[in-house]
Amino acid sequence: MSYDFKGKTAVVTGASRGIGFTVASTLAKNGADIAILDVCSEELGLAAKAQIEELGVKAEFYSCDVSDFEKSKEIVDRVIEDFGGIDILVNNAGIVRDKLVIKLSEADFDSVINVNLKGTFNMIKHTYTHFMKKRAGRIVNVSSVVGLTGNAGQANYSASKAGVVGVTKSVAKELAGRGVTVNAVAPGYIMTDMTNALSDKVKEQFTQAIPMRKGGTPQDVANAIAFLCSDEAAYITGEVIRVDGGLAM
Ligand code: NAP
Repeated sequence: MSYDFKGKTAVVTGASRGIGFTVASTLAKNGADIAILDVCSEELGLAAKAQIEELGVKAEFYSCDVSDFEKSKEIVDRVIEDFGGIDILVNNAGIVRDKLVIKLSEADFDSVINVNLKGTFNMIKHTYTHFMKKRAGRIVNVSSVVGLTGNAGQANYSASKAGVVGVTKSVAKELAGRGVTVNAVAPGYIMTDMTNALSDKVKEQFTQAIPMRKGGTPQDVANAIAFLCSDEAAYITGEVIRVDGGLAM
């Protein structure tokens, strides 16, 4: 499936690697200019920028911790100045600090909520007026199936991702009359650095639990996000699309 994102600017958080990078390059392959926001090293950020530019679009890397309210505002303002506006926002940046609650510290809880949930809020908050005035736009938030089902050892992460669903539906209702759609994707077990860190035993358990008996790829998630960003998805808002091989059905 190909889309026409020519002349559009997409902000993708956590886009230097993993799902975020694949989302950024998929949108770029369909013509979108890309603002990469990430906490990664300058070297990794510039390497991602160079790879996106090779697809024939404009790309910039901005060092930005999305959990930092002031910094994320400063960066959103800079992106609007550098690109002339924002048409698509993909809130993908996320972290895990998995532990059973008995071992989960306050810091583990707070850091995951701050990046995954507050980071999503920060980016929406700072682009909100811009989208309202434009009377058009696409926001896609990356949740997780565990935000829908819960998961032992992931109370902090599941709470953050359930929160992302709540933010998605609330902002979808707020912006629906302004031509801005707000949706979420809920990936299941996707093969990236994040899941590579799991033990072989946990990976095997995940795979056995998936009706399709295999993990997904970043491209599977990027395909759903690109659709939600397209004109073809204009009448879809407040939706959560699972990309999980049937794991959470
Ligand atoms: P990943 O490989 O760990 O990549 C995450 C990216 O986000 C990294 O580039 C990371 O930067 C960046 N990041 C982390 N904290 C940030 C912050 N505060 N501000 C800006 N950028 C930040 O993860 P992934 O597997 O691609 O996951 C992407 C998203 O999908 C996450 O929201 C994750 O929760 C969600 N998800 C993933 C899976 C899965 O199975 N992989 C399943 C469900 C949902 P550094 O490189 O510097 O750390």
